[in-house]
Formats: sequence, C-alpha cells, structure tokens
Amino acid sequence: MGFFSYNCKGCGHSLLSGYATNAINRWMTDGVAIQRDGALFYGGYDGYGRLDGEEFADDSTVWHDACWNLSGRPLYDGASECSDDQGYFFDAGAHDEDEPTTVEEMHAIKLRLTVAHELRRRSYTSKTQGDPK
Ligand SMILES: [Zn+2]
Repeated sequence: MGFFSYNCKGCGHSLLSGYATNAINRWMTDGVAIQRDGALFYGGYDGYGRLDGEEFADDSTVWHDACWNLSGRPLYDGASECSDDQGYFFDAGAHDEDEPTTVEEMHAIKLRLTVAHELRRRSYTSKTQGDPK
C-alpha cells in the first residue's frame, strides 16, 4: 500500500508522515481534516489517510494543525490537493520550515514554496527545451 497525502490549505506544504519528519518540520505531521459533513479529525498523520489512526474522507479540507489555528480554524472549504511527494518521498530540505507562529510567517512559507516550485519548473523547462532567449 502506497503513501499518499494532501497539501495544507494554509502553507501549501504536505501533511507529512510522522516517519518522514525531522526536528525542523515535525509540526507538519500534526494535522486537521474537515470532512464535507463537518466532522473534524485531528492528530498525527500516518501517511495513509489517517490522523491518530482515524481515517478521514479523501475530499476533506486538510491543514497542518499550526496553520489551521493561525487561520482562525476555518470550516470545510473543498478538497485539499493531493501532494506530489505523498508526504513521504521528498528531497532533503524540501520541507525544512520552522513552525509558523503568525499568519504572516505562514504566508511567507507558502510564498517560498511557490518560488521553489517555479524555479524547479523553469530549470526543468530549460534543460528539456533549451533556454528560450
Ligand atoms: Zn501548513
């Protein structure tokens, strides 16, 4: 059975399997899932769609606990996107962000992630198609 995960609605990073975290990003395994029916799930993510052992629906809104609290604990807001790295298979350093303590820090984390993705996309494009200039 393969790992899978979801991207946090707040910072955009994956909800990480507890087996894949390090000292910096350990907070990214503590999640909140809000089902369409309003049911709430909390706890440590196991990499298989469960928080503290409780399975939540795959169209849930998923957050890191830290990001959800900073954002004012919002309700269901549609399915979170699936994580490309499955919350487990990622490059060293890809999720090395300290736990945000303000909404501004959470937004800064998301911005750095967006920039990192864009740089990776451009680097891939220039390797496969040549520099457009
Ligand atoms: Zn987050």
